[in-house]
This record gives sequence, C-alpha cells and structure tokens, in this order.
Amino acid sequence: MYKIKVSTTLQTEMIDITAQVQKLVDGQKTGEGICTVFIPHTTAGITINENADPAVRRDMLVELNKVVPEREYFTHIEGNSAAHIKASLIGSSVSVPLEKGKLALGTWQGIYLCEFDGPRSREVWMQVINSI
Ligand code: ZN
Repeated sequence: MYKIKVSTTLQTEMIDITAQVQKLVDGQKTGEGICTVFIPHTTAGITINENADPAVRRDMLVELNKVVPEREYFTHIEGNSAAHIKASLIGSSVSVPLEKGKLALGTWQGIYLCEFDGPRSREVWMQVINSI
C-alpha cells in the first residue's frame, strides 16, 4: 500500500492527481496489471473525468452543490451532511488498468480527488496489482 498526502485549499474542488498516481506506478516496474486508488475519507471522493477543459470540473461542482445543498433539516451534528452525501455519490475509489507500465486512461481522462469539505489535509491510498 502506498499513501500520498494532498492538501486541499477550497471547500469544494477537484484536484488532478493523475501524475502522482503514475509516479507510484513507475516505481513498481509493473507491465500489465491494475492500480486501485482509494480515498479513506467520508467527505471526499475519487473520480475519473475530463482533464482538458477546467470548466467541466467547475460545472460538475456547481451542479453537485445544487443537487445536494446543505439543508436545515439535516441532523448530523457536525453540520456537513451535504459533503458526506456528495462523497458517496462520487464514490471512494477507482481502478485503472495498466498497459506497459502506464495508466491506461483515455486521452481526455484524469484521476481526481474531489474535496467536499475543505480545506483539509487528505490522504490517497494506492495499490498496484500485477497480472501475469
Ligand atoms: Zn460529518
């Protein structure tokens, strides 16, 4: 298991961690296999989406915040239920196939840490599994 730390700076944001994940894969000298990327938090998620136009990330966050706003009838004492809900909608992990030692992502795909209750210090845990 490999762990990286990511500092978020906004309440909600999507941070591209593709290069950090690829760096871990490079260190494994793996040819073919799979890399799992997991976030051990309940108010942040991991997803794969467009890495070209930053407007996509902005639109995703705007819409998620509209779909799941903070509600006065939420009862969670910490007051961040919207962040918990968004984290579950996005999910806590992705698995990416490896081809010749590289993340086999589509041309326009990047791996994103999705912060919903920042700014905070987050961890991302990763594991590489070799296929024979
Ligand atoms: Zn909470």
